[in-house]
Amino acid sequence: SEGRRPLVAGNWKMNGLRSSIATVEAIRDGLSPQLLQDIDVLICPPATLISACVEATSGSPIAIGGQNLHARPNGAFTGSISAEMFADLGASYVIVGHSERRAYHYETDDGVHAKALGARRAGLRGIICVGETMEERQQGRALDIVRAQLAIGIPKGATAEDTVIAYEPVWAIGSGRTPTPKEIAEVHASLREMLDKMAGNEGAKIRILYGGSVKPGNARELMSVENVDGALVGGASLVAEDFLGICRAYE
Ligand code: PEP
Repeated sequence: SEGRRPLVAGNWKMNGLRSSIATVEAIRDGLSPQLLQDIDVLICPPATLISACVEATSGSPIAIGGQNLHARPNGAFTGSISAEMFADLGASYVIVGHSERRAYHYETDDGVHAKALGARRAGLRGIICVGETMEERQQGRALDIVRAQLAIGIPKGATAEDTVIAYEPVWAIGSGRTPTPKEIAEVHASLREMLDKMAGNEGAKIRILYGGSVKPGNARELMSVENVDGALVGGASLVAEDFLGICRAYE
């Protein structure tokens, strides 16, 4: 909407061995040139597969990204991967603050902010994830929660070039449940309003994705909700035909 180019992004989470490159190849071969004129497509495999995925998609507009990063460029952080390292492999995006990182790795909004700065420093686009739990929604706090997560997480001076937002209700991730279009529209309108108020109208160009149990069967309905500028897809991104079916919601 409003000239924002849709982005369909796949998050493989901790899934995929080298044999899974066949999935990337099938996605690459299944996307028509016409569709790729209209949407951006991104796959975020585990870090171990980034190089192979970059190779498999070279010459195609499909982008490859990381799922998480360390905020610092390098140093004594055993097991961590920096934005510079992802960029060095040819990745162009990185997911920041996914709810699984927040839940299992205790990531805070301040930590998300630091990581988003790290992504920008290395020239990666950060996909900043926000979303409420079911308990928070039932308490009527969904908007307050996601607005606070966005306000703290997003770096000052964020642009559409370096930042994407993903609204992912925690209770919709991997559950097969989704909010109603009306509920999604309410959250996206609220986040949109915050972004639109950012300096220089740049915020108006920043995309807001919806994520949480997006499937081929519901993609068209979810992607047509006002202010939804694409999808962040977990489970359904592991199967080429499912991910392609979601991309084709934009045909
Ligand atoms: C996700 O992990 O970002 C996600 C939205 O997962 P799923 O599509 O499986 O709900």
